[in-house]
Amino acid sequence: MTPAGADPSGFPLPPGGRDLPRATAAALDHATEVDRRIHAFLHLDRDGATATARRLERQPPAARGPLFGLPVAVKDNIAVRGLPSTSGSALLGAYRAPYDATVVERLRGAGAVILGTTNLDEFGMGSATTSGFRGPTRNPADPERIVGGSSGGPAAAVASGAVPAALGTDTGGSVRLPAAHTGIFGIRPTYGRVSRFGITAYASSFDQVGCLAATPEALGRVLSVIAGADPRDATSVDREVPDFAAAAAHPAFPRTVVACSDEDLAILDSPSRRAFHRVLRRFEAGGSTIRRFQLPEAVTTISAYYVLACAEASSNLARFDGMRYGSRLDGDGTLAAAIRASRTAGFGDEVRLRILLGTTVLSQGYRDAIYAAATAARKAIRERLLGHFEQGEFLLIPVARTAPRRLSDPVEAGEDYDGDRFTILASLAGLPALAVPAGKRDGLPFGVELMAPPWEEAALLSAGAALAA
Ligand code: GLN
Repeated sequence: MTPAGADPSGFPLPPGGRDLPRATAAALDHATEVDRRIHAFLHLDRDGATATARRLERQPPAARGPLFGLPVAVKDNIAVRGLPSTSGSALLGAYRAPYDATVVERLRGAGAVILGTTNLDEFGMGSATTSGFRGPTRNPADPERIVGGSSGGPAAAVASGAVPAALGTDTGGSVRLPAAHTGIFGIRPTYGRVSRFGITAYASSFDQVGCLAATPEALGRVLSVIAGADPRDATSVDREVPDFAAAAAHPAFPRTVVACSDEDLAILDSPSRRAFHRVLRRFEAGGSTIRRFQLPEAVTTISAYYVLACAEASSNLARFDGMRYGSRLDGDGTLAAAIRASRTAGFGDEVRLRILLGTTVLSQGYRDAIYAAATAARKAIRERLLGHFEQGEFLLIPVARTAPRRLSDPVEAGEDYDGDRFTILASLAGLPALAVPAGKRDGLPFGVELMAPPWEEAALLSAGAALAA
């Protein structure tokens, strides 16, 4: 029997041998217990996790993978063979994944124990984890508040201590925003770093699988396992995958950080602004030189992201018609009526709105004026952000404008789109970005985002670890 312990990076190792099924049962019990309060999980896979633990228990120590016995949660839009994969949509309420996503296959190969699938906004469209058909996830820091989204389930599963790490997807900030709202780490890797095979597509040129974890070491460990080229995703890139956990275990303040301007921070509520300034002082105390830069105009950034994301979504979601995928309603008996009835009953309001917006911007007459303009804006934003790295190693911005709102608070139209203004920058530019927990504002978790040049995730983890230490 191998006793529980810690590896040199301080990462807690689950027990080996005969203790593993017992530890897994305890993890499942704990997850069930916390989930009564926060509803992070859509499906807890007691049977599957128990079977995995029993199989792993027989592995000789030399054959154990780098995530041996680690309980993990997976966002429900990532295919886990045999489990429900609903993307938070009533339309897919009865769908089970017939295969594993590449990232799931890699988790299993490394010895992870998948405890279950977690909640999200419908098809990943949202910033609160309130729009899924099974109801909202609550913030473990304050269950009366939203958790952020759309990977709110994975974030809440980690922040509540149900799992040390989870997989999410990040199109425009879905990993980073709930990480910041719950006080944990969340990384969006460089576009192409991680395979998208087996992910329910929202906006393919933005979608990336990301990780959420309570420590940078755990984050790094999981990222090293899931990263790397995949012949089943032509946009995945064949580059060497560093030992990200080793990088995270070596905290280092950067020589220079380029932080957004005070003008860009004016949109923040004042406790958040003060918290951001405390982070600047922490970097200075750590020896970093702070330079400042001006963000691209918010209205351009937000419009470019929502035009392109909705355009891609309208095309990606065409397959959910009750014929190829999704529950079928028959309507008056014609094929067109069946498709209309299935989609009308299956999609929630936000998804429907975005499909309509996306279809409009791609239609003749609007394509050049709107879609092409958004593409040009995206390219300009990428070039501009890349240019700022001439002044320093990392760009530093807030993740959110405010603390997570109460679930009972009314939401104004466009409020959440506007709130995405910071996180969508890395998404538009294809840059890696890390949400780092940075203390509290008004008693609630506060996070900042570090962006790095493409492929510099290891440096991000090392800087993030220094800031959070
Ligand atoms: N809030 C953003 C949106 O709704 C980002 C969501 C995401 O990254 N999946 O598009």
